[in-house]
Formats: sequence, C-alpha cells, structure tokens
Amino acid sequence: MRQGDLDDLYMEIILDHYRSPRNKADLSHVSDQSLHENPSCGDTVKLEVLTGENGRIHTLRFDGHGCAISTASASLMSERLIGKTPNEARSFIQTFLKILRGEDDRGIPEEWGDLVVLGGIRQFPMRVKCATLPWHAMEKTLSS
Ligand code: ZN
Repeated sequence: MRQGDLDDLYMEIILDHYRSPRNKADLSHVSDQSLHENPSCGDTVKLEVLTGENGRIHTLRFDGHGCAISTASASLMSERLIGKTPNEARSFIQTFLKILRGEDDRGIPEEWGDLVVLGGIRQFPMRVKCATLPWHAMEKTLSS
C-alpha cells in the first residue's frame, strides 16, 4: 500500500472511533476530581475502571470532551486494556507512552491491532498530548 493510502486508512479508523467511541458512557457519578485535562487542546477525560474477582479489568469506560485524537485514543485504549490485570495494563501503558514520546523508536507493534493508527502521531508533538491523555488518566486511576 502507498503511504498516502495508509494515512487515509489510519485517519478513517481514527474518525470511526471518534464518531462511534467504544466504551464511552455518562460517568456523572464519577467525581470531577478525577477529571484529567490536556490544556493545550482542551481535552478532558475521566474513567471508570472495575476489576472482577479474577483480578482482570472487566469494565473500562470513559467520559469527557475531546478532539478526534484523544477520543479515538481513549476508545482504542479501552478495547485494548479490558481483560488485562492492572499490572499488565500498567506495563502496556508504559510501553505505549514510551513509543508515543519517541523514547522507543520501534513504533507501535503490528500485533497491537488498530492502535497502530496512533503511531504516526509521534511526528506532531501537540497531538501527542491528545493521544496520551487517556493513558495518563488510566495510569493514575490504576495507582489510586
Ligand atoms: Zn486534543
């Protein structure tokens, strides 16, 4: 596939998650104290994370107002982290953040599925904050 076609495909996936976010819910019962913000873009996100008796995350929902990148990132994150233990989720988040910050130049591994669409955002430092916001929020939620 040509690079231009690939960019179009990636944009298509991001817009799909923006228009029909997975695991987005009304979380007005969750305190606004746990609202995370990205002032440079105006994105906000808060999360609800529930773990079952087997120690695995069975519910990961988000609420807030975000641009296409932050909303798609939260949606993709929820799909990827549900089913993991909090420890597995934490190490996944750390790897993801390293890649997005350019500290790990492998790029997003292909086996991460649709998350690969966020790899190209590394070239746009302002947008990296949009993409990483839900992941920072998740890291904080898991350690609280
Ligand atoms: Zn944003």
